[in-house]
Amino acid sequence: MKQVDVVVIGGGQSGLATAHALLDHGLRPVVLEASGRAAGSWPRYYDSLTLFSPARYSSLPGMPFPGADRDRYPHRDEVAAYLAAYAGRLDAEIRTGCRVSAVRRAGSAFEVDLEGGERLSARAVVAASGTFGRPHRPALPGLEEFTGQLLHAADYRDPAPFADLRVVVVGAGNSAVQIAAELARTARVTLATRAPVKFAAQRVLGRDLHFWLTRTGLDTAPLGRLLARPPAQPVLDDGRYRAALAAGQPDRRPVFTGADGAELIWPDGKREEVDAVVLATGYRPDLPYLAKLDGALDATGRPRHRVGLAVEVPGLAFVGLEWQRSLSSNSLRGVGRDAERVARRLAAHLARG
Ligand SMILES: Cc1cc2nc3c(=O)[nH]c(=O)nc-3n(C[C@H](O)[C@H](O)[C@H](O)COP(=O)(O)OP(=O)(O)OC[C@H]3O[C@@H](n4cnc5c(N)ncnc54)[C@H](O)[C@@H]3O)c2cc1C
Repeated sequence: MKQVDVVVIGGGQSGLATAHALLDHGLRPVVLEASGRAAGSWPRYYDSLTLFSPARYSSLPGMPFPGADRDRYPHRDEVAAYLAAYAGRLDAEIRTGCRVSAVRRAGSAFEVDLEGGERLSARAVVAASGTFGRPHRPALPGLEEFTGQLLHAADYRDPAPFADLRVVVVGAGNSAVQIAAELARTARVTLATRAPVKFAAQRVLGRDLHFWLTRTGLDTAPLGRLLARPPAQPVLDDGRYRAALAAGQPDRRPVFTGADGAELIWPDGKREEVDAVVLATGYRPDLPYLAKLDGALDATGRPRHRVGLAVEVPGLAFVGLEWQRSLSSNSLRGVGRDAERVARRLAAHLARG
């Protein structure tokens, strides 16, 4: 069985930033990535997606985001290309097409099983497999009775298949509003939310919001020590989403109260035939391979950790899966700080033997 210092599960921004930090601490990580490319989930996000943050605030440690215009909002494909280039420059073994199926304790080390039967022995494991593989589908009233098309935002790519259809998008976050506004250009769309949508201005006093978050220190303040959950993330808007909602394209309503065949039932009792419901209702940490590792996960499958380090499993760490240290934790610009902290702690743990 091959022996390695640290196995990093997931070759997205979190796994790559962690590999970079582990190398800085003299460890030899092996990154295992299930897909054919070390670019995280970015290639699977919807076609029109651009970063919330300008290029100048979107770099991982050690390699600036490329391009002359540092104030542009890079497209999804640029992010995927940047991550693949970042992976190519890391002096680490990165194996694509390798899905981890299980991690088990073996004395003070771990055994890591790959789909296909191979097994590695690792002194430490970092779970950086993201959330995109586990879309959250809330139990909405009557939805199991709905006979129209039901999909999660994870499966949405572009508006073409929905042209002229009646579509309801559920959710109040960035993805929900962006997808609903995009669909509303060619379809009849309602954004169904529990509460009114909260917006934050993309630009403040002529500067991108990320300038102010960085300048004030709010971006990196260790709020994770004080708050168990992140503050609610408003929808970042340069004005176009607020205007679209104000124009009723999409219109916003409270969430439906039931469904009957192809009809949704609205809170005022009105019934309406709907072609498709898109659940833009978020994601959960995707860690099925830890299910049999005692103490790693709670009953809902969330990682049991304190600022990234497993509370009951020495040598196991998590990066990028959920709220950790600061507002920028789960972003290109911030994940490197979490990764560095985890790498430092794991290096100390391994040095103690
Ligand atoms: C639609 C959308 C838009 C976003 N926009 C922004 C934005 O503009 N700015 C920003 O900073 N953040 C944004 N985010 C948040 C965050 O930056 C991204 O979700 C980012 O992709 C998370 O990186 P990650 O490496 O943690 O996870 P992922 O990118 O999901 O990478 C995890 C990797 O692990 C692999 N993997 C999973 N399971 C296994 C396994 N068992 N074995 C081996 N490999 C496995 C996956 O194939 C994947 O490549 C956005 C998120 C979404 C969903």
